[in-house]
Amino acid sequence: MRADLIQISYIAASVLFILGLKGMSSPRSARRGIMWAGVGMLVATAITFLTPDMGNYALMTIAMAIGGGIAWAAARKVKMTDMPQMVAVYNGMGGGAAAAIAAAEFLRVHDPSTSYAVLGIIGALIGSIAFSGSMIAFAKLQGFIKRSLIFPGQNLLDLLVLATAVGLGVVAVLQHLDYVGGSQHLVLLGFFLAALAYGVLMTLPIGGADMPVVISLYNALTGLAVGLEGYVLGNAALIIAGTVVGAAGTLLTQLMAKAMNRSIANVLFAGFGAHAGQELAAVEGSMRALEPDDAAITMAYGQKVIIVPGYGMAVGQAQHKVWELAQLLRDKDIQVKFAIHPVAGRMPGHMNVLLAEAGVPYDMIFDLEEINAEFANADVALVIGANDVVNPSARDDPGSPIYGMPILDVDKAGTVLVVKRGRGAGFAGIENKLFFMENTRMVFGDAQEVVGKLVAGVKKV
Ligand code: NAP
Repeated sequence: MRADLIQISYIAASVLFILGLKGMSSPRSARRGIMWAGVGMLVATAITFLTPDMGNYALMTIAMAIGGGIAWAAARKVKMTDMPQMVAVYNGMGGGAAAAIAAAEFLRVHDPSTSYAVLGIIGALIGSIAFSGSMIAFAKLQGFIKRSLIFPGQNLLDLLVLATAVGLGVVAVLQHLDYVGGSQHLVLLGFFLAALAYGVLMTLPIGGADMPVVISLYNALTGLAVGLEGYVLGNAALIIAGTVVGAAGTLLTQLMAKAMNRSIANVLFAGFGAHAGQELAAVEGSMRALEPDDAAITMAYGQKVIIVPGYGMAVGQAQHKVWELAQLLRDKDIQVKFAIHPVAGRMPGHMNVLLAEAGVPYDMIFDLEEINAEFANADVALVIGANDVVNPSARDDPGSPIYGMPILDVDKAGTVLVVKRGRGAGFAGIENKLFFMENTRMVFGDAQEVVGKLVAGVKKV
């Protein structure tokens, strides 16, 4: 009876996860989706306490209180712009937890079935890589690590470390199945150290603008690791939730790789985003600044304005002002559209979420493929805190670390107005020749402040 109740609850939790994920597929229903998934998590966690022989309930409660308390406090405090880092950390924690479960189970249970041992160790390998890799991704997003580490023979070293982890994993499985003897603790320790080191090594060289691909890849790996450890524990909720996260993460990775114009194989095996040894084309010319009032006039006398938001809009929390500006321009019969690059901001869907929060209707928001051809007949492209995603060197400078990444062709518009605070580089840390072009005017200042002035300026026209 109790066993049935547990299984039914796990299935119910899994259904809630899936509904949650479905909800999160659109900004309209994302809030509801998060709630569904949260309730699912609560059900799955609560029901675990009913499972017989779960071990030390006091320790479980203390661990949950510490983890839950830290997560609660951190999530309440975190700024919207630091959200991607938090996601990277929590994501990595999932992989780390899966790896820790594997370690504990390997030492605690002696299950002689081959599938138990093999799937357990594969989950541990994937989970460890996702954990340490996500921590490096966090450090890069937080700005703790600013440079990509690239050195000769890197791929060979990576391969050796991975081979060591896999080799020790095989030995751990053989020990578990009693085919070979020796210290299981020592082998597992070596295995985990090598797997963790591989995650670090794999992420350190990633530079340019390729971080979104690797973050979603670790998301997928975490899901897979959790699913595998679910099998080891015989826990249906973990298997289903892990598989769903793994599948969703894999799709997201594919989408992100497509957005960066790179194959998944290239993502996995190349020191990508880092074109070592190639010369970056020097940027010539000077920037031309424009006062917000003049920029407002330029827009107000146009017929078509395309707004391109980027990370700076998130930092400046300018989305509400931007929507106010768009409405004012529309009132003057100017056609206004929003163009969103798939990797704009610092997390997938970052700009869509902000614009949705401000109330921008979905039929005004367009993806890169949908809108790119339209810049050529737009009077004004208004770039708000975007940099890498509008950098023409991605199109025409083979030496650029972002060469090959599709960009929004804002430079094709009649006039490009760029709102940013100064000469700050984007995430890829490179110069942008867009800012020096004939048809570009820089409207310097914080996004919220400047867009506020643009609003006032348009009202005056
Ligand atoms: P970006 O290249 O990072 O550039 C943002 C620009 O905004 C900066 O040049 C900065 O210049 C400006 N800025 C910052 N604060 C501002 C403020 N308060 N007001 C006005 N401007 C401000 O942004 P992006 O074009 O959106 O490109 C995103 C980058 O992040 C890509 O390289 C992408 O690969 C990477 N990334 C994306 C994800 C994802 O999932 N979307 C995840 C990780 C990394 P100033 O300092 O001069 O103001």
